[in-house]
Amino acid sequence: MGKIVIISGPSGSGKTTVCKLLEKDPHIKKSVSVTTRHPRPNEKTGESYHFVSTAKFEDMIRKGELAEYASYCGNYYGTPLNALKQALAQEIFYLLEIEVQGALKITEKFPDAISIFLLPPDKKTLNQRLLQRNTNEEQDIALRMKIADKELEYKDKYTYAIINDDLDVTINTIRKILNLV
Ligand code: ADP
Ligand code: 5GP
Repeated sequence: MGKIVIISGPSGSGKTTVCKLLEKDPHIKKSVSVTTRHPRPNEKTGESYHFVSTAKFEDMIRKGELAEYASYCGNYYGTPLNALKQALAQEIFYLLEIEVQGALKITEKFPDAISIFLLPPDKKTLNQRLLQRNTNEEQDIALRMKIADKELEYKDKYTYAIINDDLDVTINTIRKILNLV
């Protein structure tokens, strides 16, 4: 049986970076979400996300093809159910890199899921990381910072909360949680 591992936390807390490093382990695979957001220059469909239209996303909701979905910063994001079921049939850790609303829905549906909340060292660093990533408009960054305040209130609902300061420490901590070291 596979195991769901939720990696959540505010935008800019390091979820994508951490998942990419964790995925180097053959026991770890990451879910590819569906979104209506436009791709960033470095993003490829089917790899970072499945990029779809709003009509297509709403069709997937109607057909029950998503394990969970949420609206964030004016776009839909969701976890494909079929891929999740297939992953759970294998002996792997299946990473869901999702925001807080979706994480709560998954832990309700799958109480065995391990949930990890990544925290930035502080708000100033979070802002700097969002700016340094250089993939969002100024207005969008301000909105993401505002949403972060709300999201941080949910950190105690997760199995683990980790401050993502030193990247190596973060990766080692998660690998220890998963009994991979
Ligand atoms: P998220 O997926 O949570 O939105 P990212 O993984 O895109 O966040 O990280 C946001 C920015 O912060 C990126 O530029 C990334 O390289 C950087 N970053 C992530 N983790 C760390 C860390 N531990 N120390 C310094 N910079 C980091
Ligand atoms: P971004 O636009 O920065 O790629 O993602 C915005 C937020 O949506 C992030 O917090 C990210 O973790 C979250 N997200 C990505 N995929 C999903 C998903 O399938 N479901 C939910 N609920 N959130 C997601």
